[in-house]
Amino acid sequence: MATEIDIILRGPKAFEWARETIAAMEANNVWPTAINFELWMHYVAAKDSQIAAEIEQVLNSGARFTEQVGEEIASNHLPSAKLNGEIMDAGRNLSAELDTVSRAIETARETSEAYGQQLASASISLEDKDAENVRSMVETLSAATLKVREENQVLESQLADTTSELSRLRENLEQVRRDAMTDALTMLFNRKAFDQALDKACQEAAEQCGIVTLAVIDIDHFKNFNDTWGHQTGDQVIRYVASVIGRMAAGARIAARYGGEEFALIFPGEDRYAAFSVIERAREEISTRILRRRSTNEQLGAITISSGIAEAMHGGQPAALIERADGALYVSKRNGRNRTTLADKNSESQAA
Ligand code: C2E
Repeated sequence: MATEIDIILRGPKAFEWARETIAAMEANNVWPTAINFELWMHYVAAKDSQIAAEIEQVLNSGARFTEQVGEEIASNHLPSAKLNGEIMDAGRNLSAELDTVSRAIETARETSEAYGQQLASASISLEDKDAENVRSMVETLSAATLKVREENQVLESQLADTTSELSRLRENLEQVRRDAMTDALTMLFNRKAFDQALDKACQEAAEQCGIVTLAVIDIDHFKNFNDTWGHQTGDQVIRYVASVIGRMAAGARIAARYGGEEFALIFPGEDRYAAFSVIERAREEISTRILRRRSTNEQLGAITISSGIAEAMHGGQPAALIERADGALYVSKRNGRNRTTLADKNSESQAA
């Protein structure tokens, strides 16, 4: 599902809105940074959005719309800014932790160097075998040993704190990495993750003289459905189809949201007949479930999906595999929808 800004930026009034946005920013003394522009585009073209409401609030308060104000609104409402913010926070925390460890190690090194020097001068003094001298040396050494022990304890406790902080940061970064690969609406892999996974599957198939199959799946008449029942219900339907496709992604299979109402399933090491039976199972399940509108409990009826499947022996180019699967999907649509089509085996040489 395209975001609000995607629709604005690619709609028929995009340039008109862009000009209005610049004019509004200039009138309010707002720097035309990328983030500010995206925010103010909402203000101009999506008046009922949360972002527009927050900008309005700032303007009504008489405060200046500074870059900091923009960044705050962006971090709450723009997914890309939120992600950048999280990565920057994680980076800052990591660097602060490393500073602490470096300082502690430097202090321990200095203390241990001083201790070494004391030991060296003690060993020279001990050569005189003067009892008074020995006693004073032992006292100095024992004080120095105590100091080193204390420093070591501080170092140990700082290292323990840092270890736990680092593992927390590692988890945060892992979460950010997962978010960057996940489609927020369906929790399937997003397009970027799909591209990477397909590249990898094709490369592995090429290296191992193996096979990889791709299925592309599209919800039939989704636009009509959206227009009739609204975007929110449309989103629920996307989530429903995603949940069925996600369940089919057992083992090495990868399920992704490929576009608005389009999904993809990669089957590394499986042939097109295996993929066909999986996709047919999903198609039957989806087409026999009567969905309901959550707010009113009205029956929405069942929806259907059309799919295209293509297989590549020995890897091949991902783009060619996608093109063949898309071609097969188109045949499913042309032949009446609610069906699954296998790409012609003969065209396989195009992908190899
Ligand atoms: P969700 O609303 O977050 O629901 C998650 C899961 O909770 C559903 O997975 C289902 O196992 C269970 N669940 C939620 N509400 C009900 C309910 O009223 N009755 C029953 N028996 N179970 C319920 P499921 O079925 O795979 O659906 C995944 C998502 O697909 C749902 O997320 C929702 O966004 C959408 N969805 C599924 N069926 C419908 C439907 O009939 N109408 C609408 N509007 N959305 C649906």
